[in-house]
Amino acid sequence: MMQYEITKEKSAEYLRQAIQHMSQQDAAFHPVSYAVWYEYSSGEHDKLIQEVNALIEKEKKLSEKTTAHIYNKHIASLDPDSAKVLVERFNQVVTDMNHSAVQAGQDTSQFSKTLDAWSHDLQALAPSLANQLGALLNDTLQMQTSMQSLKGKLENSLDEISALKTEIVKAKQEALSDGLTGLMNRKGFDATLHKCLATPQQEVCLFIADIDHFKKVNDSYGHLFGDKVIQAVAKILQKFTHNTHTAARYGGEEFIVLLPNTPLETAKEIAENIRKQVAAITIKNNVTQKLISNITISLGVTAYQLGETMDSFVGRADQALYTSKAQGRNQVTLLGQQLANA
Ligand code: GH3
Ligand code: MG
Ligand code: MG
Repeated sequence: MMQYEITKEKSAEYLRQAIQHMSQQDAAFHPVSYAVWYEYSSGEHDKLIQEVNALIEKEKKLSEKTTAHIYNKHIASLDPDSAKVLVERFNQVVTDMNHSAVQAGQDTSQFSKTLDAWSHDLQALAPSLANQLGALLNDTLQMQTSMQSLKGKLENSLDEISALKTEIVKAKQEALSDGLTGLMNRKGFDATLHKCLATPQQEVCLFIADIDHFKKVNDSYGHLFGDKVIQAVAKILQKFTHNTHTAARYGGEEFIVLLPNTPLETAKEIAENIRKQVAAITIKNNVTQKLISNITISLGVTAYQLGETMDSFVGRADQALYTSKAQGRNQVTLLGQQLANA
């Protein structure tokens, strides 16, 4: 009778040695070769050891066929219970290895492939043995399958999580941008301004631009044409500001531009250039096919004063804009600290 009633520690040591032999021998990873190399490692099966040693001397590595032969000759005579213990132990080996493979994020399909190949080979080499162990092997294969489906599910969840993350980033960006113009919206601008003022820097300026008599534009040419005007102004704001500047649609026909690290004089030049560019716009009225060219904006420019609130900063630009409107529109008004106090 075979000696499977041994201590756990000893059994683990034989197992370690068996796996080592199997890897040195390039032995296929299945219960038959495992049984042979386990028996060989345990050192208690003299005839088996002698025959294996002789074969190693002669052939260096045991072929599948030779391994099956050794198994049939020395181990197949096992009673069913011992055979069961052997296969269960092998299943445990596969489970443990599979477990670490899953943990390491490796592909476990290799194990299934090996078992598939073994199942096929064994039918040819030892049909009676294959039948005897067939049911237990099936369990192993089922375990492989559930392992893989579990891993597949895990991978799917990871894919879903990463897709969700992308969605969230997209949704966040959409929430901060304006649908009509693609510029940042007021919420996005306020967040940017808040961040900008939290970072100490030389000079921060901003200007507000508002389309002149826009109600009249809508009334004369229709709301859709009005939208085209808003888009055209947005395009100019984008084109004639630097990428360190932030241009946003602040309200219906009102825009705001933040210019970090920019002297008031430079901010005024940029605002003035944008005013000129807008005044030069011509947009075709799709209804009458006429070119409309009398689009103008009024602007108010100001510089940040240390310690003041965001509202006071933006409010002063609004005040400057109001002056531009009051003085006849299509112009830029500058409101610096001295002017504001004057
Ligand atoms: P002012 O020169 O003083 O700025 O005069 P205004 O007519 O431009 O100013 P007012 O605030 O009276 O009118 C702004 C108009 O802008 C009213 C509103 O219907 C229109 N408007 C706001 N948002 C949109 C939009 O998204 N599309 C269009 N087509 N019109 C809009
Ligand atoms: Mg207006
Ligand atoms: Mg307005």
